[in-house]
Amino acid sequence: MPNFDYLLFDADGTLLDFEAAERQAFFATAVVLGVDPTEENLKLYSSINGALWKQIELGEVTNAEMQRLRFTRFLAAVGSDADGIAMNAAYMVNLGKGSQLLPGAMDTVRAVAAGRTMAIITNGLPVTQRPRYEGSGLREVFGDNLFISGELGVQKPEKRYFDLVCEKLGIADRRRVLVIGDSLSSDILGGNNAEIPTCWVNTKWWTERGDAQAKARPDYTIRSITELPALLES
Ligand SMILES: [Mg+2]
Repeated sequence: MPNFDYLLFDADGTLLDFEAAERQAFFATAVVLGVDPTEENLKLYSSINGALWKQIELGEVTNAEMQRLRFTRFLAAVGSDADGIAMNAAYMVNLGKGSQLLPGAMDTVRAVAAGRTMAIITNGLPVTQRPRYEGSGLREVFGDNLFISGELGVQKPEKRYFDLVCEKLGIADRRRVLVIGDSLSSDILGGNNAEIPTCWVNTKWWTERGDAQAKARPDYTIRSITELPALLES
């Protein structure tokens, strides 16, 4: 494969364990709000939240609307009269405490960092992503190269998001950049939109794609982030 001088990593599901962070934040928040902290309720919330994030990627819902709607919808679905906006605010604080890395993530980024510019590209909000970044230790490898959609005002898969990141990193030749991420609809489609090569981390071992993902065309596919060093050397 070509030599890549810039590696742009997605955070959640690629380096950070979002499912673990979401789980602990949901349970911690539910207990305080008087909602049953059950697996069933976590699953319900997670599906409502996931659907709203897909709508954000499609430009159908804004970040602010998502934050207003996700717990309001969840609480209505479970018949609770707790305040969805207050629950969202408490949840965000708790989510910021979830900085668990996925197995092998730190060893992998350390192994490929030498001689390259490393950056994190993440859709999310600074109030959660900044503390998770600091808590995970990723700063040791990535320094200040943390690009959060909520701060840039645009998100993956928009071409403008990647244009801004390239501009801030002083990237002139996009063929020397590799986007690495687990999401076809945000990371890979975004790289395609911005004409940047992509590596899909197909952690869920998907063999079929939904319609929303069908347009995305990864240049490389790995099944685990730990396969990246060998791929870059091939
Ligand atoms: Mg991801």
